Amino acid sequence: MEEELKDLIFRKTLSNAYKHDGKASKDAVIRKIIFLKPELRQRIKEIIPLIEKIVAEVNTLSLEEQYNYLLAKYPEELKEEKIEAKRFELPALEGAETGKVVTRFAPNPDGPLHIGNIRAMLLSHEYARIYKGKFILRLEDTDPRTKRPLLHIFKDEKKDYEYILRDLEWFEAYPDEIYIQSDRLKIYYNIAEEMLKKGVLYVCFCSKEEIAKNRALGKACVHRDREIEKNLSDFDKIIEGAYLNENAVVRIKTDLSHPDPSVRDWIAFRIINPKDYPHPRLDSIVAYLGHLPYLWPTYNFASTIDDHLMGVSHIFRAKEHMGNTIKQSYIYKAMDWKQPYTIHYGRIKFEGVVLSKSKIIDGMKKGIYEGFHDVDLATIISFRERGFLPKSIKQLILEMGIKPVEAKISFENLHAINRKIIDPIADRYFFVKDPVLVKIKLGSSQKIKRQLHPSRQDFFEFEIIPENGYANIFLDENDLKEDFEVRLIELGNFRIVKRDSSYEGIPLEDQSLEYAREKKLKLIQWVYQGYSLDCIIKVPSYIFGKKIITGKVEAQIEKIKPNTFVQFVRYFFAKLHNIHDKVALFYYLHD
Ligand SMILES: [Zn+2]
Repeated sequence: MEEELKDLIFRKTLSNAYKHDGKASKDAVIRKIIFLKPELRQRIKEIIPLIEKIVAEVNTLSLEEQYNYLLAKYPEELKEEKIEAKRFELPALEGAETGKVVTRFAPNPDGPLHIGNIRAMLLSHEYARIYKGKFILRLEDTDPRTKRPLLHIFKDEKKDYEYILRDLEWFEAYPDEIYIQSDRLKIYYNIAEEMLKKGVLYVCFCSKEEIAKNRALGKACVHRDREIEKNLSDFDKIIEGAYLNENAVVRIKTDLSHPDPSVRDWIAFRIINPKDYPHPRLDSIVAYLGHLPYLWPTYNFASTIDDHLMGVSHIFRAKEHMGNTIKQSYIYKAMDWKQPYTIHYGRIKFEGVVLSKSKIIDGMKKGIYEGFHDVDLATIISFRERGFLPKSIKQLILEMGIKPVEAKISFENLHAINRKIIDPIADRYFFVKDPVLVKIKLGSSQKIKRQLHPSRQDFFEFEIIPENGYANIFLDENDLKEDFEVRLIELGNFRIVKRDSSYEGIPLEDQSLEYAREKKLKLIQWVYQGYSLDCIIKVPSYIFGKKIITGKVEAQIEKIKPNTFVQFVRYFFAKLHNIHDKVALFYYLHD
């Protein structure tokens, strides 16, 4: 009894500590123990010192040690409670005050989010929550020419760009406010007018080549010092469609001797002809503008105006976009606005992944990818479909912190994190790839009891009923040889021989596990034909060299719900998608 009680206290203390940043609360543990064993209430005075001692011991362990203990000794604690990935701590943010932090995630909605562009989102959301501030989602769709916005991906989307919201929701990164930049053209025009009046902006009619040449030389063009009145009237005309076929852009006066030529009088607006490049939200834009949109702000202009108007306090940006921060600083200076803190983090390099949107769309057109959810893509949609846990991806990305150093990650890192979380909870089933029918000699019916998880006493059962002394089972082609001894897990030791073109299995005299160990017999899984289902698994092509593998799986699978992840013994983890006409469709997760 005493040992059992100690074990219970230890277990509940670990679980409590793990859920509270590594520090268990004595009172919480006492409450839990009394709740579980009300009869202990009478002995409370004698138990409290024991709990205090165990709490003190457990609290000296690191969070990781606690996790490992739970995983090894009490994995059901991880299942029973809300499972948390290993915690990580983000460094404090410069200039951040609780309640005053405003962050934003500002993707270009020309495709779904992928592993390469969610870092800014996760950091922005996480920091806004840490500092009890505001997290804004801003959809930056002001370039219908080179980054044509993609309005919808899923058929049931009601709102524009809803697919991005779904990605955010999956991470539980709910935005406090949502803006679409193509709704805000009037705002950009108004601020531009203010800046034209101040002489900070000017309308330039130089050709691309002239602009590049002058930039290289650090020279001003003839338009830089035009009268403000002329600039203002041309600007108004351009908004309504004038100079459509001429080189007309709006530029901001910066520093013509800046060491980076692209900073020199960068472009704030350019004309995009809606007849050539219609914006997919054209109707709603025309509705508020009163005419077609001809003049579009560049990324740097619109983004800066919005960051200011939305009160953004901290911006997370990859180091390679440092140039944008410099460009944007000219607006802040000219308008006498306070520039937000910008955190430049290092780039994450993903090995062996296609992230380029044009390559993905090209591949979809050619039929290489079946959609944005294709198993070969690193889109968030694909990870979701395959059954990854959002917290695994979140941990992978946020563990990198905000340092400006570059980091390389491979999917092995992600798999390791995800495996650690799902291994204690994923039930084990037998699956046989490339199945070959083997006739097993069996004297009488045999009940098979299969344990769903090595650390839990959960079982399922079925019966093998031989006909004329034989039962048919499936084995993986790759496990077969001409003549060999093997241990079929939970069934026994067999000698399997190939006769003509079929296989036959004869039980060995010694059925013991000791014999199998001594003879170093391979332990292999099998599927009984009388309790089997056909199975299709979608697999990233780098694993088996093809995207679909087929086989047989135990019919017990019919009892689990779609979206459940399982481990196929000796193969990999997978997620059940659905079962249709006695065929189970799975997605490969990782090994
Ligand atoms: Zn010019």
